[in-house]
Amino acid sequence: MFEYAPAPESRSVVDIKPSYGLFIDGAFVDPADGGSFKSVNPASEEVLAEIAEGGSQDVDRAVRAARKAYEKVWGRMPGRDRAKYLFRIARLIQERSRELAVLESLDNGKPIKESRDVDIPLVAAHFFYYAGWADKLGHAGFGPDPKPLGVAAQVIPWNFPLLMLAWKIAPALAAGNTVVLKPAETTPLTALLFAEICQQADLPAGVVNIVTGAGETGRTLVEHPGVDKVAFTGSTDVGRAIARAVAGSRKKLTLELGGKAANIVFDDAPVDQAVEGIVNGIFFNQGHVCCAGSRLLVQESVADQVLESLKRRMAQLRVGDPLDKNTDIGAINSAAQLARIRELTEAGAAEGAQRWSPPCELPERGFWFAPTIFTGVTQAHRIAREEIFGPVLSVLTFRTPAEAVEKANNTPYGLSAGIWTEKGSRILWMADRLRAGVVWANTFNKFDPTSPFGGYKESGYGREGGRHGLEAYLNV
Ligand code: NAD
Repeated sequence: MFEYAPAPESRSVVDIKPSYGLFIDGAFVDPADGGSFKSVNPASEEVLAEIAEGGSQDVDRAVRAARKAYEKVWGRMPGRDRAKYLFRIARLIQERSRELAVLESLDNGKPIKESRDVDIPLVAAHFFYYAGWADKLGHAGFGPDPKPLGVAAQVIPWNFPLLMLAWKIAPALAAGNTVVLKPAETTPLTALLFAEICQQADLPAGVVNIVTGAGETGRTLVEHPGVDKVAFTGSTDVGRAIARAVAGSRKKLTLELGGKAANIVFDDAPVDQAVEGIVNGIFFNQGHVCCAGSRLLVQESVADQVLESLKRRMAQLRVGDPLDKNTDIGAINSAAQLARIRELTEAGAAEGAQRWSPPCELPERGFWFAPTIFTGVTQAHRIAREEIFGPVLSVLTFRTPAEAVEKANNTPYGLSAGIWTEKGSRILWMADRLRAGVVWANTFNKFDPTSPFGGYKESGYGREGGRHGLEAYLNV
């Protein structure tokens, strides 16, 4: 077999500063109490930068800046002028895409081919898409002249740092709101580069504020009385705590939480195509995907064939340096996440499921986990019920479409699902019965700014993306 030669992307395209302040009212400022934390490259454990930790005074300052910008500038600006800023930001993201992609891969651990070909293009597309809406809000189906809400507090996770920022900031700004966003503590760097892009675009001061910090900073932000809207993406536990904190206030809330999606393969599906979809469904972004196809439901009559092909395909996956353009699976985002994946996979083996990984050499430094599948999984196993958020697939079988629906829906989550079959009628029959916000047919993990995304049940409420995504930021 021919080996791939190393094809590393140069990290010199991005200039990482030794330390970063908070981005408040159009400028980088020191935190009031001077606290800080480190952002680490998960592939090497190298410290990338020292990041300011926002405390309650900083959050207050950011919310006030956002309020002032809302009342004096942004909330009064005609939509066509807001659109110009959003188009400008979108173009700057495209211009600086290589820099953003390298920084995202360094801070998050995701392969450069994903940050370069998926994350960053989708980020730009989101800003372009919502820029187009800014002067057409009266045609979005929410009345002739819908009004913004005011100041939005936005808290995002670490798995798609810049993409989750775009999902939050683009519709909020298009609708006329101003924002205070808190990126995740392990991946703050691209949000801070985005703040520089806001400066470069001459966005009026205070329209976008970035307050870095951990859970406590997030909690202070969502609980701040000066906030009109809270948008959160992250774990179901934190989502619950936020829903409790916001209950009884006038704040509007959207929650995008966890998932445990079923990827369902019928006996008439083209096996090679389905296997590509299974691999993409669970190994894309190291499985750190809320809508990952983490439960494979395969029809019993083709289970052996599908598993044999899947194992052959998995043996081809290259795990390693995220900056290498040939890498398929990068680093696990943090030591804490690696520990959680290990704990759940050990529980899977202890509960009697059979574990398999292809032979693969993992780098010595950094946080790594080999792509893994479990067969002989039953509905009762923790690995079939709990979100692992890593490159781990639980395989279950079914005999009839009704059994597939029952097993797929047997979860507290309801974010996404996949169906693989040649029959259009079966796709529609299944999609009608699956309790999932997104159902992909003969594909998986496809995203588009025009298409709404969101969950049922414990996967949260509200939709992001598309015309529907505007509703969360309008007084309707
Ligand atoms: P997390 O809930 O621990 O953290 C998410 C964010 O919330 C971080 O910025 C964190 O600092 C902040 N936070 C923590 N405690 C808080 C509190 N009490 N109040 C306010 N903010 C707080 O989740 P995570 O580990 O960063 O992300 C993984 C989870 O995110 C997974 O469960 C995944 O499914 C989910 N996710 C969902 C979507 C979606 O669109 N549905 C997208 C990506 C990730």
